[in-house]
Amino acid sequence: MSPEGYAAQLKSVDADVLLLDEIDEMDTRAPAIAEKRLGHSRLGVRRAVSTPTYRGRGIHALWEVSDQRQWFVRCPHCGERQAMGMSQVVSEFDSLGRPKVWNGMAEGRAWVSCLRCGKELDRLGAGEWVAAHPGRRPVGFHLTKLFSPLADLTAMVLKLYSVDETERKETFNQDWGLPYDPRGGRLTDQILDLARRDYGHGPVAGEKCFMGVDVGDLLHVVIRGPENRQSHESPQRYAGAVSDFSEVAALMALYNVGVCVVDALPETRAARQFQQGQRTGRVWLAYYVIQKTGSRREDAIQQNPDEGVVNLDRTRCLDEVMARLMAATVPDPDVVADHVFTLPAHARSVAEYYDHLKALLRVLEDHAGNRVAVYVNEGADHFAHAENYCRVAMALPAPTPLPAQAGLEKESGWD
Ligand SMILES: [Zn+2]
Repeated sequence: MSPEGYAAQLKSVDADVLLLDEIDEMDTRAPAIAEKRLGHSRLGVRRAVSTPTYRGRGIHALWEVSDQRQWFVRCPHCGERQAMGMSQVVSEFDSLGRPKVWNGMAEGRAWVSCLRCGKELDRLGAGEWVAAHPGRRPVGFHLTKLFSPLADLTAMVLKLYSVDETERKETFNQDWGLPYDPRGGRLTDQILDLARRDYGHGPVAGEKCFMGVDVGDLLHVVIRGPENRQSHESPQRYAGAVSDFSEVAALMALYNVGVCVVDALPETRAARQFQQGQRTGRVWLAYYVIQKTGSRREDAIQQNPDEGVVNLDRTRCLDEVMARLMAATVPDPDVVADHVFTLPAHARSVAEYYDHLKALLRVLEDHAGNRVAVYVNEGADHFAHAENYCRVAMALPAPTPLPAQAGLEKESGWD
């Protein structure tokens, strides 16, 4: 339902109790309109329940002015009563915000430590609600998964390993009950350097590749090999700019490209012609679309096989590409098996590649009172989009795979 439709509906009935569920996902006008429905009620009870999103927004803004009740447990060792939070589990984070040291790391688990004596708390033990500001109104309760018997604390820590901004925000909001402070993100020389491995560009015999093409004055092409089963690394086999689609077709043949995704704009007709010149299902045209903020309801990649078209959630897809390159800097790939994009040893000397990747900047913009994460570019960013289309190609079904290669192609899918 459109936010306008939702806000309009709220005006229609008088009420005694107002329950605002998932207030952070609402049209920012909705709560004020709903308040009016309490106008004729003598009870006038108000409740707002939500997963937090960003600091100072929605439920977090309400929490800030509330009496701030937290669930306190008593330390079985020293008797100290205390609330539980992320800092009592993870003691050190790296520069990308990934956990570096946490309680129980050596034993392959995670536990909450006492603020006073440092020993393990019984997070599910008896407890009570304690207000930080007794007497203040409204009454506010902070819920996290830390005192839920259903929560897997180790999994909660490992999810913090993700450098995908969309996933990080979900973990902070839904597991830890915390607002998320987004990283003003962009790739750096340092990150790209750490993504380099000891190989060069060029086709590898017997390998089936994936291709992404960004269309502008030139055609920027990125080709990647399939993901290695052990390291989860996908090598970059080619990154360069060519002047017309006949050269793209030649690269497809040279690198044995199974699936190629091409920017549908601005040269839709030329892209269509190129698509029609290839075997059915081998070339897809891609459009960027803007989905609702942090929407988890729809896939970031919407396929329309009949049209040979994919609609891509721009922010979520670019988040994924950034995450794959950043994942190449993880010191120990055994800790979390993530999808990884590596670069060849000479990546610095690939004309404009670093500049294009660094030109994308992740920022938050206000859209009708809601904060929306978007990528803006400071300079040309063609290779970043070519990488993205290449990543999408890896997620699409292969056209009539040969039986021997079916397993391999499945392996390189991303979700
Ligand atoms: Zn203690």
